[in-house]
Amino acid sequence: MSHLMNTYARLPVAFSHGEGCWLTDTGGKRYLDALAGIAVSTLGHNHPALVAAIAAQAARVLHTSNLYRVPQQEELADKLAALAGMDEVFFCNSGCEANEAAIKLARFFGHRQGIDSPAIIVMEKAFHGRTMATLSATGNRKTQAGFEPLVSGFVRVPYNDLGAIEAVAEHNHNVVAVMLEIVQGEGGIHIADPGFQRGVRQICDEKGWLMICDEVQCGMGRTGTWFGFQHAGIRPDVATLAKGLGSGVPIGACITAGKAAGLFKPGNHGSTFGGNPLAAVAALTTIAVIEQDKLIAGAEAVGRSVREGLAQALDGVNGIVDIRGQGLMIGIELDRPCGELVARALDAGLLINVTADKVVRLLPPLIFSADEGRELVSRLAQLIRDFLAA
Ligand SMILES: *Cc1c(COP(=O)(O)O)cnc(C)c1O
Repeated sequence: MSHLMNTYARLPVAFSHGEGCWLTDTGGKRYLDALAGIAVSTLGHNHPALVAAIAAQAARVLHTSNLYRVPQQEELADKLAALAGMDEVFFCNSGCEANEAAIKLARFFGHRQGIDSPAIIVMEKAFHGRTMATLSATGNRKTQAGFEPLVSGFVRVPYNDLGAIEAVAEHNHNVVAVMLEIVQGEGGIHIADPGFQRGVRQICDEKGWLMICDEVQCGMGRTGTWFGFQHAGIRPDVATLAKGLGSGVPIGACITAGKAAGLFKPGNHGSTFGGNPLAAVAALTTIAVIEQDKLIAGAEAVGRSVREGLAQALDGVNGIVDIRGQGLMIGIELDRPCGELVARALDAGLLINVTADKVVRLLPPLIFSADEGRELVSRLAQLIRDFLAA
């Protein structure tokens, strides 16, 4: 019997090593990785530049503390601020922590204006994490069940519905922020319309609210721009990152701009591990490789060809509802629950995921090549055809 707490329905496979976009299990079988550990392994596996940078930093110093200056963290903050066109960065270790920082910041922002009970508008089907506040912000009753009382101060509206936000604004004078994913990941790869994104930006400006973009899954180049919000030409007041930031080394970030910057002072928030030298070096190296190897343009091009390839290979197949996505964040929605496709793909040497019951989700490493894209399309289209024909 395992002593692991039973929080995951794990597949019966363990990987011993990887190279590029391929993982090898303990029995020697190879798998094409089209999931990247859920959008984490930006540079794939065993990337030589990342391995060397981590090893060199480990040989100097792993951890000091945020009680001292951490030069690698300062350099990373400069870099992220430049890439986002924003001002300040707080480092933590995960997506939920980055969102906790954003939520605390929004409440702090409200209190400073005399709003004692600040509220944040959040979206249906949103996923923001598993801690109490981020679980409360998440729009999934199943994951919340059994953990009540939830944290108060969240008002939920349908995604892509500006009118619903305007309606809340009319009667709720405690609102201080709107929080959303530009591409909803766990919710089933739903994209915020550019018009909706610009509308949220405008209403936040008019009302003096913060616009918070949870870029934990869709950030770090995945959608074909550094940040998902850059497609619509907007800039939020707060953006959060984690998953792909350290390419497998845990690190999260909460980035602020304008009226959201300069709010926290010493003592208002903190993290023991956040942005330690090892994690900061992993993120700096991830960003450097993305830039050197032009991986963002690659994500856009390979993602497009995978979507087009799938559309062609699955054309006319009964049971396909939609094939959608942006860059290397791709969803194939079927007309029926398809969780069993994950195990079938594993048998076929392919790592994928199913989310929201009916959506096959692909989040390959950003180093995914055009050839690997074609391999993915041919293996996956066959699996989906067989599944739907059964
Ligand atoms: C994964 C995810 C989170 C939570 O990140 P953790 O590192 O698991 O805490 C938050 N928001 C989004 C959009 C995510 O995809």
